[in-house]
Amino acid sequence: MSDYDVDLFVIGGGSGGVRAARMAAQHGARVMLAEEYRVGGTCVIRGCVPKKLLVYASRFRAEFEDAAGFGWAVPHSSFDWPRLIANKDREIARLEAAYTATLENAGVAVVKSRAVLADAHTVQLANGKRLRAAYVLVATGGTPSYGDRIPGIEHAISSNEAFRLPALPPRVVIQGGSYIAVEFAGIFAGLGAQVTLVYRGENILRGFDDDVRHHVRTDMEKHGIRVITGCTVAAIERHDKHLSARLSGGNHIPADCVMFAIGRRPNAAGIGLEEAGVEIGKDGGIVVDAYSRTSVANIYAVGDVTNRVNLTPVAIREGAAFADTVFGGKPTAVDHGDVPTAVFSDPEIGCVGLTEAQARARLEQTDIYRVMFKPLKATLSGRDTTVLLKLVVDGATDRMVGCHMVGEGAAEMAQLAAVAVKMGAGKADFDATMALHPTTAEELVTMRQKTASYVRAAAE
Ligand code: NDP
Repeated sequence: MSDYDVDLFVIGGGSGGVRAARMAAQHGARVMLAEEYRVGGTCVIRGCVPKKLLVYASRFRAEFEDAAGFGWAVPHSSFDWPRLIANKDREIARLEAAYTATLENAGVAVVKSRAVLADAHTVQLANGKRLRAAYVLVATGGTPSYGDRIPGIEHAISSNEAFRLPALPPRVVIQGGSYIAVEFAGIFAGLGAQVTLVYRGENILRGFDDDVRHHVRTDMEKHGIRVITGCTVAAIERHDKHLSARLSGGNHIPADCVMFAIGRRPNAAGIGLEEAGVEIGKDGGIVVDAYSRTSVANIYAVGDVTNRVNLTPVAIREGAAFADTVFGGKPTAVDHGDVPTAVFSDPEIGCVGLTEAQARARLEQTDIYRVMFKPLKATLSGRDTTVLLKLVVDGATDRMVGCHMVGEGAAEMAQLAAVAVKMGAGKADFDATMALHPTTAEELVTMRQKTASYVRAAAE
């Protein structure tokens, strides 16, 4: 590898790139990483981490309301958006510095520059400097998509801008019905905005279990979020300082902020990939094999730019597996099965494994165990909310194939349920586990009665 300036050049300093660079360096490789924006990438700078901080902020409203039932008299509360954003920015800056320090301590050279491929082994920086690399890892992530250009789209923001709005917009219209749309609907509503969610399909959260979708939508509406389905934002008009979202059905919704959260596209264009011979898929993502290798032998790609499972922990695993494969002498393919996921909406979703619909399509027999109950805390707070817990079991083998939860702590529960599902635990293992009382999670091990059992109809 001595003919090269570096053994590995990583393009992109997000979750996947940082992990890969650090581990490759620890395996003894000479590594350089280029990041054109801020080290930490989407997750740390304008994704998961700041989002979760905003979610925490948004939940205080309900906590203050709930406190009365527990004897507290909470004086009039007020919320200061600029203070929240400033505090959030300080924490993000701290994390960014920590990520950079971790890389540098591992011996990775970090350059703050855009980097593009000049050929399969040559990377060019913004200042024109070229470096020869034995291996290149593309970890450039994704970018919010705005879909087809509608009139007035320049007035819309994406999640990127939502993190640095100068003030909390009093009225927000959000287009989209998945992770980002639903999470920001909860954030803005919790902080005091009037929120309308506009979704093109029949019900939000397509791909999640149908009971979860129904439950979350009902609760969101109970908490004051207006959900309009079966239409899209067709145009955005500006009237002086205010906006108006014109829906495909013709209605106008007045707004101070229109946010689009309709998916993200991989950052695979304009960085010399196609010129270097790297195959790009129809979805715009880099095509890779199980080891994250592209169609060019020395070029690999991890994370959202490959459009596999677009979640931070997955990108981190892919980055680590890449480093072990190429520099650690241990070929490692990432298992993308049974990845737990959470939506930090209000109410929160946590799930892992097959939905009921997926199980019924794949398995001979699917058993469903489902409970809905008022959480203990709601008895004194008087909050109108219920928890949903649902287990999807392979009726032929007793194996737990899916677990879906809505309510406080759902994400934390999903992480642990994922261990059981990944291990191949059976319903009997859940039944044999002693309950931990009084918790929400105890219901996972006390569900004895099947709610439903479905046998797949024989193929015609
Ligand atoms: P998703 O790709 O998850 O969903 C896109 C949403 O927008 C869907 O509801 C989709 O509808 C709708 N949509 C797509 N195109 C259009 C269009 N042209 N007009 C109207 N609606 C449209 O995108 P998100 O932006 O919510 O999230 C992006 C990624 O970020 C996801 O892959 C997710 O994994 C990740 N993420 C994860 C989080 C977490 O783990 N908690 C949090 C935030 C993001 P339809 O259902 O009909 O296709």
